[in-house]
Amino acid sequence: KAEKALESAKEKGGGGIEIYQHGAATKTLERILLENDLRKSIQLNHFSLDYQPKVNLLSGEVTGLEALVRWDHPELGRISPDKFIPIAEETKLIVPLGNWVLREACKQAMKWYNKGFTGFRVAVNMSTIQLEEPFFIEKIQSILIETNVLPELLEIELTESVLANMNQVHTIIEEIRRQGIIVSLDDFGTGYSTFSYLKDFPVDTLKIDMTFIQDLHEKEESRAIVKTIISLANTIGLNVIAEGIELKEQAEILLDYGCQEGQGYYYSRPTTPEVCEAFMEKSRII
Ligand code: C2E
Ligand code: CA
Ligand code: CA
Ligand code: CA
Repeated sequence: KAEKALESAKEKGGGGIEIYQHGAATKTLERILLENDLRKSIQLNHFSLDYQPKVNLLSGEVTGLEALVRWDHPELGRISPDKFIPIAEETKLIVPLGNWVLREACKQAMKWYNKGFTGFRVAVNMSTIQLEEPFFIEKIQSILIETNVLPELLEIELTESVLANMNQVHTIIEEIRRQGIIVSLDDFGTGYSTFSYLKDFPVDTLKIDMTFIQDLHEKEESRAIVKTIISLANTIGLNVIAEGIELKEQAEILLDYGCQEGQGYYYSRPTTPEVCEAFMEKSRII
């Protein structure tokens, strides 16, 4: 069965053959198959977006919704982005996939806006590979025009790896912000030289990584780190948000330290646009 699968993986495109010949030791059969399926699924649009609300920790109001891509594999069922995003990045399939995500998120943002929701932004995750594409800014502009989205409804989440691995990143980030789009630094605190980036890169928001939030209530070190990040953000005039809040206690500590925005299972898991809409409706202050 494995042999047959490999044969078909080889037939299904040059990428498969090359990987098989040069890296048989490191790339597993599963990986080769996944890569080919990914390519096919992008053509056939087997993806969807879930959204996870971001909330004001004091009022409970929704301040934003993060788009998280889901792969509905025809045979294997739902595959986690942690598993396929790295493959999509290595194969550059993240470019067409990322464009689809952005387009879809823009349309959804306008749907909510046209239903009368305000004071929210839809956030889209982007990889270094996407930002490195020639004409990246032009591509974003064309999607904004095509979907008619208001740029103030959009936010882009970048990780520190973007900052570490790109030469032109400074210019690109400024270009994104010039469009009126907010830029956040995701997984903040986990990189090597986290703090030094802040001096050089024009971002709007720090998103404190969930590893610091999850043991906030039981670990002095995490409290110290989180407190420092929040006060740094407040001092230099950046917004700050915490991700991965699962307990009320964690939210209370964050509020106590001066962080007023958060996201996590305690409020809502990532879910369909319909369920998010009901959540927004419910949390709206009239
Ligand atoms: P991320 O951007 O750091 O997203 C947060 C992840 O943590 C999401 O996992 C979310 O479901 C999960 N999460 C949220 N709240 C909690 C919580 O309270 N507790 C715990 N344990 N987990 C929580 P998900 O959806 O599996 O996404 C994983 C990663 O895949 C994302 O991490 C992001 O790096 C990447 N990703 C997802 N969608 C896209 C996309 O459209 N483009 C790109 N480039 N990357 C994406
Ligand atoms: Ca994110
Ligand atoms: Ca994150
Ligand atoms: Ca992460």
